[in-house]
Amino acid sequence: MKQIVVMSGKGGTGKTTITAALGQLAGKRAVMADCDVDAANLHLLLRPAKSVKERFVGGMLPMIDTRGCTECGYCETACAFSAIVLRNGQYEIDSLACEGCGVCSHVCPGNYITMMPRVTGHFLISRSRFDQIMVHAALGIGQENSGKLVTKVKTEALSEANRENIPCLLVDGPPGIGCPAIAAVSGATEVLLVTEATRAGLHDLRRLMKLLAHFSLPASCVINKADLDEHVRTEIHAVCEEQGIAVIAEIPWTDVFPESLRQGKTLIEMSDARVSDELTRIWTHINSKGECV
Ligand code: SF4
Ligand code: SF4
Repeated sequence: MKQIVVMSGKGGTGKTTITAALGQLAGKRAVMADCDVDAANLHLLLRPAKSVKERFVGGMLPMIDTRGCTECGYCETACAFSAIVLRNGQYEIDSLACEGCGVCSHVCPGNYITMMPRVTGHFLISRSRFDQIMVHAALGIGQENSGKLVTKVKTEALSEANRENIPCLLVDGPPGIGCPAIAAVSGATEVLLVTEATRAGLHDLRRLMKLLAHFSLPASCVINKADLDEHVRTEIHAVCEEQGIAVIAEIPWTDVFPESLRQGKTLIEMSDARVSDELTRIWTHINSKGECV
């Protein structure tokens, strides 16, 4: 199966807006996966109808049986994250500070601490308004383990694609180079890098290229806001050439991007000829073997 993952080293490059437009071009031949789980917004453009919503267990959280607790304080001392606090004469867990390591439950002499599954978010399997399967998720406020949730979204999306015999998976990847980014590119057959002609865009593109080099993945690059800084644009071309990455499209700065988000329309629906031409060029490149038509 073709797995196209759209990535950017930083937020604000237009990655999600471009992914949504490519999704529209792919139609029912692609399953859409929103792996930007910390700030999911592909749904704003694809406006899916929710069909199945499931809880996501991202870790464990201890529970203290206060009826048995002798207030010996061993658990408080053993917790490296200061997540056990004495309040009003009773030990309590600070769920925001707790890392779910389970040490407290091991040291409690009376086994009064039980580790329980911790729901850290939800994932949804829906139908986008272009009648394609879309898997997306929402991480709870202040929750961690988004890398695990990204893996869950991808696994569910792949299983939907296999079940429905759909040849492509189109992934809106998370920004950055951390655990969620690694989870998103894992198993990818192609990565589309979206950057912008700014110093920050170039800096983060370089970091992302280093990450991708570990996985030896075929990649191509799109420069958004390409006319913002001519020097940076030239540097991006040079860096891509050095890495053997083709720059397949350049999109000039346009307010069509924020406007499309504001109106909840894809870039294709915004009917800007310059942008649509570049998107068609991108799609033709990443679908050059015709797997997704
Ligand atoms: S699970 Fe670990 S981090 Fe959480 S309260 Fe227990 S010892 Fe502290
Ligand atoms: S180790 Fe067990 S008994 Fe001691 S304070 Fe903690 S919960 Fe209570």
